[in-house]
Amino acid sequence: MTEKAKIGLEVHIQIKTKSKLFCSCPSGKSENNVCPICLGMPGALPTPNKKAIEYAIRLALALNCELAEKIIFWRKCYFYPDLPKNFQITQLEPPLAKNGKLKIGKKIIYIRELHLEEDPASITYPADIHSSRYCIVDHSRSGTPLIELVTEPCFDSAKQCRLFLTKLVAILKCLKIFDESCVLRVDANVSLNGPRVEIKNIGSIKEVERAINYEIIRQKHFAKLGKLKRETRLWDSTSKTTKPMREKETEEEYGYIVEPNISVIEITKEFIEKIKKELPELPDQKAERLIKQYKIKPEFAEILSLDYDLCEIFENIATDISPNLAASFLCTEVAGALNYEELEAKAILDRTEEIKELLEMVEKNKITRKAAKKIVEKLISKKFSVKQFVSTQDMYLVSDEKKLEEICKKVVKENKKAVEDYKNGKEKVLQFFIGTVMKMTNFSADPQLVRKIILRLIENSAN
Ligand SMILES: [Zn+2]
Repeated sequence: MTEKAKIGLEVHIQIKTKSKLFCSCPSGKSENNVCPICLGMPGALPTPNKKAIEYAIRLALALNCELAEKIIFWRKCYFYPDLPKNFQITQLEPPLAKNGKLKIGKKIIYIRELHLEEDPASITYPADIHSSRYCIVDHSRSGTPLIELVTEPCFDSAKQCRLFLTKLVAILKCLKIFDESCVLRVDANVSLNGPRVEIKNIGSIKEVERAINYEIIRQKHFAKLGKLKRETRLWDSTSKTTKPMREKETEEEYGYIVEPNISVIEITKEFIEKIKKELPELPDQKAERLIKQYKIKPEFAEILSLDYDLCEIFENIATDISPNLAASFLCTEVAGALNYEELEAKAILDRTEEIKELLEMVEKNKITRKAAKKIVEKLISKKFSVKQFVSTQDMYLVSDEKKLEEICKKVVKENKKAVEDYKNGKEKVLQFFIGTVMKMTNFSADPQLVRKIILRLIENSAN
């Protein structure tokens, strides 16, 4: 029997406000950004950050949520070293927003609720969490505004979770409430028709996919042995496994009380209308516009709509370059090279002009697309003049048939076995020949011409 996985996500999103959620300390990574309020000292009075509330409403509207009429903050009481005041200020009833949805391809992901809360301090263990004799508590994170977003358990694969989170990040960036300096932490609830296991604290989208895939396999194995139990596990990104954690508290054990030091905040219709009016173009609308405006393929429009910065580059060059060439080059060659170097498109925003020059040369048949790919792979780590590079590296397109024929002859002569293979029906070998000539000419040979010459040489070669 193959059980279908049922997965729900809890996403903690650090949002990019200037100050923390309840005090005026600067938010984000900086030193000396603590005060009696975010340290939770007795008698310190919290004041809610209006910008953080506005940002959370922006996200709620972008995800088609129903908004609450009032914001009520609660104390979630628990005893743990990351919270010296022994409670976290969060929301319980009503959450800021509920019943949202987001489309991933044809599937609709339902969002149960989202609310605002403060981030506790971060804890570092000198060794393993269980064997460390002490831990280091860093309070610079205390009080950073978080949006907690809870989905219904409606995902059935790890890949779907990855696609959802990718789109969520794209939306957060569009809304300008999140950037690379902000952190996303995910808890995933995974069950295969059996006990539900919660995986805590997964730090990146890639890791979420890995952790869930690992957990599905682990649960299948333990279910067979009849040893599967409800528990909370921790994702260990070093060993790429989940490990058991403390037994989970139930919601009742947290002991919620309404935060007595913050009064109820009304969300007025005017405030919501103002935020609605200022909402930017969101990924789905953007994809639609790109298809209409530039007549590019829907698959490229989707990739661009989900990568804010890559799309910036596209729109900056698509007026000078054929939009189809620009879109396909950015979505395949450039995106591939960025992925390989584990970089974001933001890192190459200042190389837009160079990418445009490269594609102009491809368009005018001055260099091959393969040469452009090789150059862009270098351009990603370092900015340089591409025109100069093309000339010093002799990469201008060679369509001199005589010159190419000499090189082709050499390659055919040196690979007799491959010639035979081709004659025996292994047509893939042709690609090997063309590839070899391309490499020998530093990707400057006209590939169509090389193909023609090679075919002729093979045909004319003696059996
Ligand atoms: Zn503070």
